[in-house]
Amino acid sequence: MSAEIEIIDPSFADAVRPDSRLERLASPAIWAEGPVWLPDRDVVVFSDVKGNRMFAWSERKGLEIFRQPSNYNNGNTLDRQGRLVSCEHGRRCVSRTEPDGRITVLAEKFDGRRFNSPNDVVVKSDGSVWFTDPPYGIAGDDEGYKSESQIVGCWVYRLEPDGGRLEAAVVDVQRPNGLAFSPDESILYVADMSLVDFPRLGRRQITAYDLPEGGNPVNGRKLADIEPGIPDGFRVDREGRIFTSSDDGIQVVSPAGRLLGKIKVPERVSNCTFAGRNEDTLYITATTSLYRIRLAARGVQYSHLL
Ligand code: MG
Repeated sequence: MSAEIEIIDPSFADAVRPDSRLERLASPAIWAEGPVWLPDRDVVVFSDVKGNRMFAWSERKGLEIFRQPSNYNNGNTLDRQGRLVSCEHGRRCVSRTEPDGRITVLAEKFDGRRFNSPNDVVVKSDGSVWFTDPPYGIAGDDEGYKSESQIVGCWVYRLEPDGGRLEAAVVDVQRPNGLAFSPDESILYVADMSLVDFPRLGRRQITAYDLPEGGNPVNGRKLADIEPGIPDGFRVDREGRIFTSSDDGIQVVSPAGRLLGKIKVPERVSNCTFAGRNEDTLYITATTSLYRIRLAARGVQYSHLL
């Protein structure tokens, strides 16, 4: 077992391979975030939020510029059709990149008020787009444009597919950031990183909600505190384990909230995504760099496209 892997619960041994090794692929960013895999091109796209650009990395071509400027793009995912769906701090919107390269704004306002700065996004199997809206893109000019918030809170929104309704789905998290569904979509996980803004009362936790079919999330409860650092972004594997960012690497938490193990990364981690035909390679964005590690664990994000 390589030195980067720390097994805390014996069950974590099933998630890694004897030859699992962390590789640093490229270090072009000021703040790397939002990794997403494009299966048809076998490319990992990620944001340099503070560099106002996006990169693409592939085995074949290495590192390339994907979009510059990027409107301070942050989180990314794919929708059910494999189109890139992104959170833009600069335009304070959620956008979609069409197959011909045009970029369509999917949502920019709630009840006539502009979002704060959409941060991270996931798409449910019914096509609804779920995203978080903390203030980090309007708090200063380093990853967006300093502005006043028009909305009293920082919420999680659900946008129904095909121009459908926009709803505030979660309003009891102070600083929502990363989000993900359990493999059967019965649970929604939302990161609350309010500790950064409110050192005495804030949280550094992943909150779990039950998600009734067609309804709003209910029964919010703490799944786990993540430290050192915060749960910025995370992904779920087929066993329901949560692979989350932290300051010392990727931390892996069971569906019951137990810390199973860690993949140590030498830079502060922001987010990750499983990729590859078996979804068994974890790509990790961490401060300046993109890393990867091959695992036994397999993701669920791209199954519908493979
Ligand atoms: Mg984030």
